[in-house]
Amino acid sequence: MKATAAVLNQANGPFSLEAVDVADPQAGEVRVAIKAVGICHSDLVIASGAMGLQFPAVLGHEGAGIVESVGAGVSSVKPGDKVLLTFNSCGACAPCGHHEPAYCNHFVPLNMLAVRADGSTRVTREGQPLADNFFGQSSFASLSIANERNVLKLDADADLAALAPLGCGVQTGAGGVLRSLAAKAGETLVVLGAGAVGLSALLGARIAGCSAIIVVEPQEGRRVLATQLGATHVLDGQGDVAAAVRGILPEGADMVLDTSGFMPVVQQSVNMIANRGRVGLLGVPGSLDAALSVPVLQLLTQGATVRGIVEGDSDPAVFLPELIAHHKAGRLPIETFSKTYRLDQINEAIADSHQGKCVKAVLIVD
Ligand SMILES: [Zn+2]
Ligand SMILES: [Zn+2]
Repeated sequence: MKATAAVLNQANGPFSLEAVDVADPQAGEVRVAIKAVGICHSDLVIASGAMGLQFPAVLGHEGAGIVESVGAGVSSVKPGDKVLLTFNSCGACAPCGHHEPAYCNHFVPLNMLAVRADGSTRVTREGQPLADNFFGQSSFASLSIANERNVLKLDADADLAALAPLGCGVQTGAGGVLRSLAAKAGETLVVLGAGAVGLSALLGARIAGCSAIIVVEPQEGRRVLATQLGATHVLDGQGDVAAAVRGILPEGADMVLDTSGFMPVVQQSVNMIANRGRVGLLGVPGSLDAALSVPVLQLLTQGATVRGIVEGDSDPAVFLPELIAHHKAGRLPIETFSKTYRLDQINEAIADSHQGKCVKAVLIVD
């Protein structure tokens, strides 16, 4: 079926709106008319080519839309249903069996620009295959092939533009605090970076009832936003950040969550924690060989934990409905940091994100 996609033909773009063909859904697949799609930091990291992306490609992984058709065996959604798209998983491996689909043994082929198991491609341009299936959706397009496991049925009155970022950035940030770090009421948290993921982490910490929430962010506008959303302290990230954190919390913080992937500050994270502190790393660094050097003696005497996190340890079928309920109740006001653009304004939206003019860009597709 004919569709329009924002195609990335070379590293760092620009994206160009082009006519493409989207295949019919196979067994287990769901073809979705995309109505809104957020731009996530990892779209931009991948678009830089640093992770080995093949061009031309269709990115986009915070899609929301209306089911257009379904393949054989799909029973949880039907044409006309509003759906939220998220990351894909196999449902059959050990991590999936433990309700940890973000660590699915088949995460890479199911989410990273791979052809189907039978070798066929989902998206073509003038008969030539494009790299697609990004997070099982490639939703910078008017039509997307997703899978029954990575679509969540929404209520008929759901606001797709408001909810689209839940599928990656918001569940990653809020889940990083609520699920991965398992924040408890009264605990203290440092959030590194106040992009959409960092602000979602801050909102997750508010939901958990954290006592002190320190947000470290170089852009002043985002520090102001963090304060408005409930950060108890903000730091600009200059100089010795760990010392600045200890100026506020002399014994260190119970938790540090990095959403920035900015290694000079990430490197300081282990010096920010209290005994038994937990450091969670979910910011994607800008290079494949980024490495963290941790003093082992300090780590063991503190009984500290340093761990990596994908998608906030989300089990989307369980966690996304919880987040939707928090949003409905006003505890997850993502509209305060999101801004809408048309799909054909994708390059402008990315430029605005880089310049700090918007935190979360959401593209509206008509
Ligand atoms: Zn799996
Ligand atoms: Zn993402």
